[in-house]
Amino acid sequence: MTGPTDGVTPAADDATAATASVTADTAAVVPVHAADADDSSTVTPADLPATAPAVDLGALVSTLAEPTGSADDLEAARATFRARLLDDRVLVDLGRPGLYGRSRAFERVMQAVRATWTAANADLEPDLLRFPPVITLPTFEQTDYIASFPDLAAAVSSFRGGDREHRELLAARAAGERWERFLEPADVMLTPAACHPVYALLSGQLPEGGRMFDVDGDSFRHEPSLDPMRLQAFHMHEFVHVGTPASARSHRDSHVEPMAELLRSFGLEIDVVPANDPFFGRVGKILARNQVAQSLKFEFITPVYGADQPWTAIASANLHEDHFGLAFGITTADGGTAHSACLAFGLERITLALFGVHGSDVDAWPAEARTALSL
Ligand code: ATP
Ligand code: ZN
Repeated sequence: MTGPTDGVTPAADDATAATASVTADTAAVVPVHAADADDSSTVTPADLPATAPAVDLGALVSTLAEPTGSADDLEAARATFRARLLDDRVLVDLGRPGLYGRSRAFERVMQAVRATWTAANADLEPDLLRFPPVITLPTFEQTDYIASFPDLAAAVSSFRGGDREHRELLAARAAGERWERFLEPADVMLTPAACHPVYALLSGQLPEGGRMFDVDGDSFRHEPSLDPMRLQAFHMHEFVHVGTPASARSHRDSHVEPMAELLRSFGLEIDVVPANDPFFGRVGKILARNQVAQSLKFEFITPVYGADQPWTAIASANLHEDHFGLAFGITTADGGTAHSACLAFGLERITLALFGVHGSDVDAWPAEARTALSL
């Protein structure tokens, strides 16, 4: 099965400049905005390097094809889906792109997805960790996210002035001006990926066998869009392993097929493709290409807007290699640099894909899907 996707075609001179290390733990979608995508930047099989990826997941990972649907049709399909979700009160419009309130029906399905995903990974016997929606500045700094995705990152600001500055703020506000300039950095960032706070807790030596975590939390990425699949604030539920190079790779690889099967059991059509994250800028194009070439991250994509349009990433399986091990000084029991891998369900995206394919009335969904989700 082959799903259209879009990505980045390397420029010839970039190829030699490419470095081996990619921050794979990143913003994660097959870019679903055809209109946003650089038309000259699409991965085709011919663009991929002749060298085999380190992991051969064989027939499971699809070859890549270009979407053939028009940008106008895609925009219309997004608008129709968004209108339906709002009309049927699955989501509540908050008046800004990518920000919604969630209804009882939505929460019911999202909880079911969460519970099913948790049960499917019970054998991992993970430690459970939950974090606030913000991440400390030093930890954010160490993840290197700002180098790859400055455009998605968001900082928290707070008022730290005295009475005089407060009066100035109020005067600006009364004059109808923007007043946020009176705020100053509060030294916390909004968490861009649920697993990021984990690594800071592991600096030092891991026990034999490494560590396994169940992490579920808020993620914020500043990518406002009228595509209801692209939110600014959403939830990721991840199973994160930090251990040896072999155990991290095995965590990622051994779950790709079960993840695809689990999503298919919900009644979703699923394809698995190497991820193509929207790294920022010109250097980002090199990083994106390396990410694909090294098969560090796989995405589970589904055709929300038609098979001939870009499919949407609803989950990912991600090998970071030693990125976080180096950044946070994590070593294995035998003294080597730790490697990490995470399996991420994008809870809103999966939930929305289900409302897309099965309709707005959950009780009328196909019996197999409701059984798979215990709904
Ligand atoms: P990461 O750890 O790379 O940062 P990850 O695998 O934990 O890696 P991503 O792959 O970036 O996280 O994202 C995981 C999932 O989160 C995606 O598959 C998608 O379902 C969801 N997601 C990402 N961006 C958005 C968004 N803007 N709106 C809604 N869901 C999103
Ligand atoms: Zn992660």
